Amino acid sequence: MHKQLMISALIEHAGKYHGEAEVVSVETTGGLMRSNWGNVEHRSRKLASALSKLGIKQGDCCATIAWNNVRHLETYFGVSGGGMICHTINPRLFPEQLIYIINHAEDQVLFLDKTFLPIAAKLGEHLKTVKAFVLMGPRDAESAAMIDGLLFYEELLETGDDDFVWPEFDENTPSSLCYTSGTTGNPKGVLYTHRTTVLHSISSNQPDGLAISARDSVLPVVPMFHVNAWGVPYIAAAVGCKLVLPGPGMDGESLAKLIDSEEVTMAMGVPTIWLGLLGALEAMGSKAPSLKRTVVGGSALPPSMIAEFRDKYGVELIHAWGMSETSPLGTMNNLLQKHMSLSDTEQALVRLGQGRPPWGVELRVVDDSGDVLPNDGEAQGDLQIRGYWVVDTYFKAEQSALTPDGWFDTGDVATLDADGYMIIRDRSKDIIKSGGEWISTVELENIAVAHPGVANAATIAARHEKWDERPLLIVVKAEGEEPSEADLLAFYGGKIAGWQVMLWCLLTSYRWGPLARC
Ligand code: AMP
Repeated sequence: MHKQLMISALIEHAGKYHGEAEVVSVETTGGLMRSNWGNVEHRSRKLASALSKLGIKQGDCCATIAWNNVRHLETYFGVSGGGMICHTINPRLFPEQLIYIINHAEDQVLFLDKTFLPIAAKLGEHLKTVKAFVLMGPRDAESAAMIDGLLFYEELLETGDDDFVWPEFDENTPSSLCYTSGTTGNPKGVLYTHRTTVLHSISSNQPDGLAISARDSVLPVVPMFHVNAWGVPYIAAAVGCKLVLPGPGMDGESLAKLIDSEEVTMAMGVPTIWLGLLGALEAMGSKAPSLKRTVVGGSALPPSMIAEFRDKYGVELIHAWGMSETSPLGTMNNLLQKHMSLSDTEQALVRLGQGRPPWGVELRVVDDSGDVLPNDGEAQGDLQIRGYWVVDTYFKAEQSALTPDGWFDTGDVATLDADGYMIIRDRSKDIIKSGGEWISTVELENIAVAHPGVANAATIAARHEKWDERPLLIVVKAEGEEPSEADLLAFYGGKIAGWQVMLWCLLTSYRWGPLARC
């Protein structure tokens, strides 16, 4: 039988065979919303129907600026299942970047959590294509007063047909869109299709991958605006696990309470999140007894974390690497049969690296001339990837993003060993990753050199206990000028998002002279 690989088939399966499995979310306005896969399927189908009645056509982009919650999940399936493109937006971007990507994607609808209404209200007149703003909740007068003609999700849903049937179309049709700012210049769009998404869901949930089952209660702390929450919503629908969505509460204490109350068995997020959780568990004296596994990715794993999760809480920590451009899964770290006789410490050493590729992607490292280096665990080079769910051309770009022989250059520098275990050693892209979010070094430097007291500037990543990396600005003072650290930091005000401004600033009067911390 020939059938197209459709995202709607994932949610249809969840509704039909796991209808009563719970989907729980922390609401933006506080409190828990309890739903199940049966309701999510029904409501996402109604949403697809309602959008079509609103005049939204297949192939149109519908954007979301939202936390991880049930309505966001319904939007994932309703928009993509209806043949439209679900464009998830990172609310931490600076307003100019938000305007750029919404106009570039030609978004027709903007779904918003209440938290983000003020941002949307400010952007309003700059957004050229948005026909409808939808608040993801019931009607409320305060929100209605903020944006003229604001629609309300629950009312919009009522206009959808109960008997709407998911359409079937070519599996190569685009389904979702994420912009990455982990690159120089404007954010670049990565377009995923039904086929890439379904293949990625199947492969990343193999026993050596996420291995989520219908017996799990899964907490994706990785935001749904970040590479489709690593594909977890699709996998969760395919296996019908209990899904727990944390809403805006991503601090350690909120997560620890949610893990206990919803008996979470598995959770995924960036290292900064797990540092917060470990701190909160310690402070609360909680043992998180239900938690069995956590997946950590997005930044390098702090060395002590595996042992801390294992020894204090009996939790297995799985390290993974990926990118927006790779859907995201590129590698996951699990042991081979030959490692089973190693001690805990020796096994932890193997598991500290970023891991091996699952079926569907291949890796290689190359030198500066593009020659492929040996997989010997020693030769360090530019990490390249190819596979079924890897980007070939950025959204609306004219040029391919690939090397002439068809590989995608990741901007990471790595080694590969004979078993295919990859370790990230460095990064060739001019970018800093702080708490899982990107900061452009070039942008920070450009702003610094525009200051009259600055002759030249460079930004580098400084290791930080909580955020993994923070920007450190090194400044050569202009002749006769004495800018202070406070002057410089104030100069960034209004030019980039506040959290991107560096913590430290080193000033020198001499091009090669000693640096003085001010
Ligand atoms: P993004 O596209 O925002 O998901 O960022 C992808 C980039 O994050 C990769 O190219 C790496 O530079 C970095 N990254 C992701 N996972 C890891 C990891 N496990 N260890 C180190 N760096 C990582």
